[in-house]
Amino acid sequence: MENTIPNTAAYFLKKHYGYDSFRPLQEQIINCILLGRDTLVLMPTGGGKSLCFQIPALMLSGITLVVSPLISLMKDQVDALQANGIEAAYLNSSLSYGEEAEVIKDCISGSTKLLYIAPERLVNAFDTLVSMLDVRLIAIDEAHCISSWGHDFRPEYTQLQMIKEKMPHIPIVALTATADKVTRKDIITQLNLQNPEVFLASFNRQNLSLSVKTGMREKEKLEEIIYFIRERSTESGIIYCMSRKITEKVAEVLNGNGIPAKYYHAGMSANDRSQVQEEFSKDETPIICATIAFGMGIDKSNVRWIMHYNLPKNIEGYYQEIGRAGRDGLPSDTILYYSLGDIQLLTKFAVESGQAELNVEKLQRIQQFAEADVCRRRMLLSYFGEAYAENCGNCDVCQNPPKHFDGTVVVQKALSAIKRLDEKVGFNMLIDVIRGSHRQEIINLGYDKIKTYGAGSDISTTNWKQYLLQMLNLGFIEMAYDEAFSLKVSDLGKEVLFGKRKAELVLIRNKDFTVSKEKTKDKYKEKEKAIPKAVSPEEHFTDELRKMRRTLASLENVPPYMIFNDAVLEEIVKKQPLNEAQFLEISGFTQFKFDRYGQELLAIVRKHTRKINPAAVSTQAESFRLFQQGLSPEQIAQKRNLGISTIFSHFAAAYQEGADIDLTQFVSNEECEKVEEAVAALEGDISKLKPIFEYLKEEIPYHKIRLAITLMEN
Ligand code: ADP
Ligand code: ZN
Repeated sequence: MENTIPNTAAYFLKKHYGYDSFRPLQEQIINCILLGRDTLVLMPTGGGKSLCFQIPALMLSGITLVVSPLISLMKDQVDALQANGIEAAYLNSSLSYGEEAEVIKDCISGSTKLLYIAPERLVNAFDTLVSMLDVRLIAIDEAHCISSWGHDFRPEYTQLQMIKEKMPHIPIVALTATADKVTRKDIITQLNLQNPEVFLASFNRQNLSLSVKTGMREKEKLEEIIYFIRERSTESGIIYCMSRKITEKVAEVLNGNGIPAKYYHAGMSANDRSQVQEEFSKDETPIICATIAFGMGIDKSNVRWIMHYNLPKNIEGYYQEIGRAGRDGLPSDTILYYSLGDIQLLTKFAVESGQAELNVEKLQRIQQFAEADVCRRRMLLSYFGEAYAENCGNCDVCQNPPKHFDGTVVVQKALSAIKRLDEKVGFNMLIDVIRGSHRQEIINLGYDKIKTYGAGSDISTTNWKQYLLQMLNLGFIEMAYDEAFSLKVSDLGKEVLFGKRKAELVLIRNKDFTVSKEKTKDKYKEKEKAIPKAVSPEEHFTDELRKMRRTLASLENVPPYMIFNDAVLEEIVKKQPLNEAQFLEISGFTQFKFDRYGQELLAIVRKHTRKINPAAVSTQAESFRLFQQGLSPEQIAQKRNLGISTIFSHFAAAYQEGADIDLTQFVSNEECEKVEEAVAALEGDISKLKPIFEYLKEEIPYHKIRLAITLMEN
């Protein structure tokens, strides 16, 4: 914090969020908002939009209203803010009359800095709110909900037009992860933003690995998924499936293999759904098999992988879904499985959707993505209109470039068979005929008499499926969705069939994973050793921190990732902070968190540093040694460049371990009694110091409370 001047955005970033630097555009966005400009922010999911309006809210006087579409989303965001020591609240239909009055009271008194509010509520109560409160900024989150073109249209959002009419001088910041031009324009016109500054961040999320797998039978796919999950037993992930039925089936298979997973879809009751979502947030159920209904409300930062069990309908949806992984910036994996069967069904849906042309086109784009033989990230970003000059190195194509071969003969065999079957059969029948199957239907229809019967028996059924997918995407064949998906030879296909054009195909490789590099390394390490997994001291340490995080989270009744995220957890294990100052150096950790959880965490770190690095001098012993030499706590703090409360916590820990130190010299009898009284009033709960501190009207400092509790306990 040394280099940051109070009252700059960077100072607030460090103080409230514990981060040392802004991500691209965040600072410019904040400054623009502080200048009172209307602002539109386009940033991918997980890109860091929230800070962009939260920091201005903290810096401005008065209150910021935040419009948010979902009750669960509001609650999560407010919980997360409060977990960072920021005064925030929400108004929506889930509150009782009394709770609502309380919220409004705190807003009027000026203690609440951010008030989250449902759009319809803001519209209905707008006049009252602005007359009662000192509103300085209005943030509109998930702003694409205003556009009827988009995938999340919410009619309530369109009423937000009245904000500018009624209060033209209050700046509006609109934020969304949907970047297409139509939506962008819609947001600006509908909200009537005045000469807005538009910030378009990069949509690249480099920490997400991208891979696509095809040509697998159902059983192989499930086996692979089970293997993948077993390799990552402590991690959370989502498996997106095409239908409700599939979510249930996949969850059942996983459960049958001892993997705790639940399903989630819109056919469940609201109660069941919110329970599953909460269990996922709280790390109680690590894996959810879901339809795309499981989505916008997920703010969990430690989702480590996303799978698509089926091909998504379009690239927009796919990108948004994989974006839910790795919000904490740590490496995370995404895997997309797709098959010919998916394409048949999705084509049918698209055709029947009422916007057939658009939806078929979108489906074709994601098929092309799935079949790509160039860097997938480049392809995705170019879809979103972003040029990306290099190959990413973190997708399956980059890590394992496809090999091409002259597939003219393979293509000719298929096309010739299609022709000879009068373009009347679908791909399953086609493959059976080319492979020379003896099944009765084929004999009955006389398909065993055609010239190409059995001509492709050297290629397996799964590989034929993949080649047919390639031919479909290369435009050699067409699938007639209105004729039971029978296959037709296209004009381009005819050129190949008649030898006027060569056809290059991608060689099919069987099974391998593309996962984040580090994990692959781990996997090899384990294979080399070929011994049952032994738990290393580091893993043990990580485990214990994770457990403590869960305990703290349940005490606070928030999801564990809100106590601190996985990135912080990894840093603690790596850096082994042994005092307050070292904890505050960890990116994402703050004073507020140290005051609340510092002692519990220190105890774990101390225990494990001794194991991991026995030579490390215990910081607590050092403070105690200096004290024995006759230095005062203040002198020790100065000499060691630590906070005074840290020194006292060292004393308390030394005392607990049986050191000869009289704590009563630092905390008076009277103070001890008051703390005791507060603890009794709080029903003996000493897990958190803040309620005690508050009960005592903030008159007794934290370090004295801790000393008093130490004395009480021993
Ligand atoms: P979005 O709303 O765009 O999906 P969030 O605002 O939830 O994304 O941010 C995603 C994650 O990134 C959060 O865990 C947040 O704390 C973290 N984050 C945001 N800004 C920074 C930053 N400057 N440095 C490090 N982490 C950040
Ligand atoms: Zn790549």
